[in-house]
Amino acid sequence: MATKDLSKAKNLLEIRDLKKYFQVGKGQTLKAVDGITFSIKKGETVGLVGESGCGKTTAGRTLIRLYEATGGEVIFDGMNVHKLDKKGLKDFTRRAQMIYQDPYASLNPRMTVGDIIAEGLDIHGLYKDNKERMKKVYDILQIVGLNKEHANRFPHEFSGGQRQRVGVARALVLEPDFIVCDEPISALDVSIQAQVVNLLEDLQKEMGLTYLFIAHDLSMVKHISDRIAVMYLGSMMELTSSNALYEEPLHPYTKALLSAIPIPDPEIERTREREILKGDVPSPINTPPGCKFQNRCKYATDICRKEAPVLKEVKPEHYVACHLVK
Ligand code: SF4
Repeated sequence: MATKDLSKAKNLLEIRDLKKYFQVGKGQTLKAVDGITFSIKKGETVGLVGESGCGKTTAGRTLIRLYEATGGEVIFDGMNVHKLDKKGLKDFTRRAQMIYQDPYASLNPRMTVGDIIAEGLDIHGLYKDNKERMKKVYDILQIVGLNKEHANRFPHEFSGGQRQRVGVARALVLEPDFIVCDEPISALDVSIQAQVVNLLEDLQKEMGLTYLFIAHDLSMVKHISDRIAVMYLGSMMELTSSNALYEEPLHPYTKALLSAIPIPDPEIERTREREILKGDVPSPINTPPGCKFQNRCKYATDICRKEAPVLKEVKPEHYVACHLVK
């Protein structure tokens, strides 16, 4: 697990009651992100986890203004992201980057890798001449474990892991401060996943990067995250350090997610108690009243069906949204 000392680090991002709703016809509203509040320190990796459809990718995209927010605000290095003027926004779109889940789909097949990487440099005018443009491309290829010759090749000539390295290079060439890593290892073979995680960790150390690392499975964020946020149906259910989340999960949903991860020791695996999740995630268009998790929670009581629990600090730096956890 990540073991950085971030006690003196300042917040790079402050996300306050952020909402992103979509109108989906017949006057219906899909509340993809329904009021989330958290912060990310400079140099920190926050893992954002939940089943598909829980709003984590929409949250990541709204954070870096790929989507306009419906409500709330994102403060990045003192700037209100959703109120930036044209110049401020251009600077922000350089400083905040995204690495996408599917390295196959996110790279233009008709462009050489050199041009894919240099595209952001072109948009932001970050070189004097072509020599400097290509030097930046060659340097970043080397940093991500590829080489100069790869610049003239096309994405189909690369393996999945190499394509994701190209995706990382494309984000890094702009020298960002913050990267939303949107399930960057989910589409890769298990044998390659650790390599990409190690690369991201090394780059963070060398360049002082800050990450939001999105994943649908808690096992994928365990090693890279300093803190982990668990989302369900657009709301945040639990937020704490990686260690606390794995050793002492408090929210019933987090316990169920952890329970789904197989333990390599067959003896422990056979005898441990499992929290099995019943049913599917309800539609974010028709969320249940009260606690959004109530129709799948074995501890649900009357209050859970009436009142939505708020995320509160139940132990130092351990936040939980559950009526049962005091
Ligand atoms: Fe379960 Fe109630 Fe806690 Fe929701 S508030 S997680 S329904 S116990």
